[in-house]
Amino acid sequence: MLKALTDLNEIVTLKGAHQKDGRRLTSEDLSIIKDGAIVYDETKILWVGETSRLPEQYRTLTQSMKGHVLTPEIVDSHTHIVFAGDRAQEYADRLSGVSYEEIAKRGGGILLTMKQTNEATREELFQSACERIERIYSYGIGTIEIKSGYGLNFDKEYEVSLIISDLKKKYAPRIQIFNTYLAAHDVPKSFENSASYLKEVVIPLLEKLAPLKVIDAVDIFHEKNYFDAQDVELLFSRAKELGIERKIHADELNENGGAALASRFEALSADHLLKISPEGISALAQSKTVASLLPGTAFFLGKPLAPARALLDGGAKVAIASDYNPGSCHCDNLLLIASVASAQLKINQAELWSGITLNAAAALGLLKQGAIIPGMRPRFSLFKTESLSHITYNWGRNFSVTLP
Ligand SMILES: [Zn+2]
Repeated sequence: MLKALTDLNEIVTLKGAHQKDGRRLTSEDLSIIKDGAIVYDETKILWVGETSRLPEQYRTLTQSMKGHVLTPEIVDSHTHIVFAGDRAQEYADRLSGVSYEEIAKRGGGILLTMKQTNEATREELFQSACERIERIYSYGIGTIEIKSGYGLNFDKEYEVSLIISDLKKKYAPRIQIFNTYLAAHDVPKSFENSASYLKEVVIPLLEKLAPLKVIDAVDIFHEKNYFDAQDVELLFSRAKELGIERKIHADELNENGGAALASRFEALSADHLLKISPEGISALAQSKTVASLLPGTAFFLGKPLAPARALLDGGAKVAIASDYNPGSCHCDNLLLIASVASAQLKINQAELWSGITLNAAAALGLLKQGAIIPGMRPRFSLFKTESLSHITYNWGRNFSVTLP
């Protein structure tokens, strides 16, 4: 069915950003249409421009949206929201000066989430994820990537990948979910080393899931004392053979050459990048791999942020995601994170909005959304406010409303 919205205070088309492949953006690349109108059907955008220029044939369908701003749909391209329990006590302990090692010794950290997730039923995990998804959506975030990775054994990881697949079916098309397989999130203590866990669990389960067509990408925690470059190569090669996309947790705690590995395997994204080297930056700048920044995690842990300016000025395609998870960033509001981070990351509004729409969609391989241009998919976020700047200027206030 055709729809035509008119009198929008602003339509943030990101046409300029789209033409520049989301790189080296200036504020003009927001390509804002004032007093805008848009026509679309279920599958694509048909027309966009000033309300006064709306073609005659669409004029009978119009609905006035005065006082609203339309943007490409916000995409959270990195979350870990299928988990049980919480780590509120650990957070309080950390603030009192208890070290991460001490927390781990007490059975806290990811081990606690792993234990609680394994004890939870499929229905409990599904229901708690639904509550999180609805809250994320309430801020205007309509595409959400969800990673498995707290089962850390064959059966539970299998179950969690199927839970994410069920979530995807339940919410489509209103909310679009992307299913990422992250069994290689940590190495369980019962395995001698990362290679044996990969060989006995991660790869065989990938081979079981692949023909079911439930997962969209694999991911791996490439880090000292977790998974090394050889592990990444093994997983990525197998994923590539099976026709499954690749993502990587890269260069977060140490510079490990993760960004270069990501671009070599044409990964959709390399995420975190707090410690990325100049070589890593130029590798990403010359590739299609999106550099995903997760500033909420650095904030929550009291760490310096990733070198956003160096990545942006070097020509990388940069996305911003929440990393919503029970331990290092328990925040469901990407828009809040991006608002707070913009001054710290020294990014302009075009870089911010491309980072959470156009480039975040590219980090999931969704190249037909993220800009409001005829022919692109009709996935939008709508805000009841006078201009784009008001949204992040009033950081933490929720202006999102559902489309009519
Ligand atoms: Zn993560």
